[in-house]
Amino acid sequence: MSEIEALAERIRAFAVVRDWEQFHTPKNLALALAGEVGELAAELQWRTDAQITEAAATRAPELDRVSDEMADVLIYLVRLADVLDVDLIEAANAKIDRNEQRYPEHLARGSNEKYDRLRDTQE
Ligand SMILES: [Mg+2]
Repeated sequence: MSEIEALAERIRAFAVVRDWEQFHTPKNLALALAGEVGELAAELQWRTDAQITEAAATRAPELDRVSDEMADVLIYLVRLADVLDVDLIEAANAKIDRNEQRYPEHLARGSNEKYDRLRDTQE
C-alpha cells in the first residue's frame, strides 16, 4: 500500500467512526477543499515572497500555520479522491504527461505564456 493509500484509509476511518461519511459528499468536500486553500492563501497574503522564503529557510514558527493549512488541503483532496475513486498519483502523472506535450521545452523555457499562446509568441 502506498503512503497516499494509507493516508486515504486513515482519513476514511476517521470519518467512518464519527459517522461523517454522510457529510463527505463530493460537493461538500470540494467546498471544504476550497475553504482550506483560502486559509492557506490567508497565511501568505500580504507577505512578500522574500519574507516567505526567509520564514521557510529559518523554519520560523509562523511556517507551522502554513504547514497546517497545507495538511488540511491535502486531507480534503485525498478524501475527495477516495470518495470519487480517483487515483491521485495516476491522475497527476497523466496531467504532467499532458503538460509536457503542451509545454515543449524548446518553446516554454523561460516563458510564462499559456500553452495555447506559446507558438504564437515564438513565430
Ligand atoms: Mg484549515
